[in-house]
Amino acid sequence: MTSKTFGALALMLFAATAGAQDAKTVIGNSSRAMGVDNLASVSYFGAATAYNLGQNSNANNPWPRQNQNDYVRAIDFAQPASRATATTYAMTPQGNAAAIGQFQQNITPAQAAWAQQLEIWITPWGFLKGAAANNATSRTTGSGANRQYVVTWSPAAPKSPGGQPYKLVGYINTQTNLVDRVETWLEHPIFGDMHVDTRYSGYRDSYGLKFPAEIRQTRAGWPSFDMFVQGATANPANLQALLTPPAAPAGGAGGPPPGGAPPQVGSEKLAEGVYRITGGYVALAVEFADHILLFEPGPQNEARGMAIIAEAKRVIPNKPIRYGIVSHHHADHTSGLAAPVAEGITLVTTEANKAYFQKWLTSPRTLAPDAIAKSGKKPAFETVGDKRVFTDGNRVVEVHQMQGIAHADGLLAAYLPKEGIVAYADMFNMPAPNAPPPVGAGLFTHIAMADNFERLGFKYNTLVSVHAPNPDRPITKADFYATMPGRPVPQ
Ligand SMILES: [Zn+2]
Repeated sequence: MTSKTFGALALMLFAATAGAQDAKTVIGNSSRAMGVDNLASVSYFGAATAYNLGQNSNANNPWPRQNQNDYVRAIDFAQPASRATATTYAMTPQGNAAAIGQFQQNITPAQAAWAQQLEIWITPWGFLKGAAANNATSRTTGSGANRQYVVTWSPAAPKSPGGQPYKLVGYINTQTNLVDRVETWLEHPIFGDMHVDTRYSGYRDSYGLKFPAEIRQTRAGWPSFDMFVQGATANPANLQALLTPPAAPAGGAGGPPPGGAPPQVGSEKLAEGVYRITGGYVALAVEFADHILLFEPGPQNEARGMAIIAEAKRVIPNKPIRYGIVSHHHADHTSGLAAPVAEGITLVTTEANKAYFQKWLTSPRTLAPDAIAKSGKKPAFETVGDKRVFTDGNRVVEVHQMQGIAHADGLLAAYLPKEGIVAYADMFNMPAPNAPPPVGAGLFTHIAMADNFERLGFKYNTLVSVHAPNPDRPITKADFYATMPGRPVPQ
């Protein structure tokens, strides 16, 4: 080793040590300012708003919001464990009358997934505690009043499904030493390495504990959680009570989930070359001269997408699947799209939804490498305006864009005129036997579907809903119109 390289190495070591010392000083100063030094646990309360990720009524709009009043979160940093509770007031997913409901989130030491644990470590206090224990690094950004320390650390556990360490980046105000913002990243089947960005402002003081009066969080760039914090308590005496969920009703929760093993993929032949694929969210497979077309190619998760593809190939052998018509962009209907993308299936969607899928299905997915990441495939699209016809001269599948559907913009339905079959999602779910007739927004959506199908002159007797009725059976036009008393059934 020459003295020159030795000098360079010593300088690097010195720089690294100085960086580590900086981080230690920054975290120490911030912990003192925030009142974290003797903080073993915390509780805070206020009015919150949660947003339903991936369920927006238009792919390029914010997530729908739900108020969470009387929001209380308690955190025990030692275990670590946390519990949040709130009271909600919302209409049912079917759009029926609003009712008071209870929200709760219980995070126990056994629940190691980052999706839960991050709730503890992205808080300003949890961030500093984690940074002090996990070899954080520090740098600065900005200038003047906007100058911030940027502190980065990774928890020893958990690791992501792909074996990557998770990362937290906190921004600490250089003038106040208070935590302004914490970023982390979480795996998501649509958004890939999803950015979770939480900002803290309007700090107040409670016997030396600093707490932000306002919390604003975004996920994948849109608001995902807001809270106006009205009060906070350091080391609350009632911590155990706050962390303990109420006892489950006798004979209730605790046993194996009802129904036993998850349903197996299966299929039902509706007509020559037309199969309804069951065992989860329903898909429709249609045989053409030299290929297969799928309606709803990637719902629920990657495994369901793979199962639908395998079943379509089993019932229609030796033909490639060329098209996959995506009913709409909602997360439960698209969280398995990695499967058809990796299979090289062209996704059929609207222009607006194409922009959304193009952005997210090509985003980095390092935390949980899915079939897209493993195959290196890019999604391919064909778009539908009002109508698009797929035909080989014999088979005909018309794809129509629905109008005036409150549930989602850009909803597509597939109509097979020769077979009298319509495949669709989320406009009409068969009510459970003996359920009260739908009212309000629920009935409104049924009427909107009937208006669309009558406007388009569909002649059908078989409805294939992506959400199968329970118990599962074919749904007819008569079943559908029976939910709209007084409305004449078109011939
Ligand atoms: Zn939906």
